[in-house]
Amino acid sequence: MAKKGKVVEIIALACSECKRRNYTTKKNRRNMQGKLELKKYCPHDRKHTLHVETKVK
Ligand SMILES: [Zn+2]
Repeated sequence: MAKKGKVVEIIALACSECKRRNYTTKKNRRNMQGKLELKKYCPHDRKHTLHVETKVK
């Protein structure tokens, strides 16, 4: 299964307030363009905050 280019990419979702990476998710580059932003629960802030896409190392 050697396809050219990855379609699904694993990304981390980092809290926009404390910058902690609380979640990882998969992003399909075919149908998602631009930065992914999701409202998610941050255990550190103990509330829902905006989480933005960052690279996973
Ligand atoms: Zn946070």
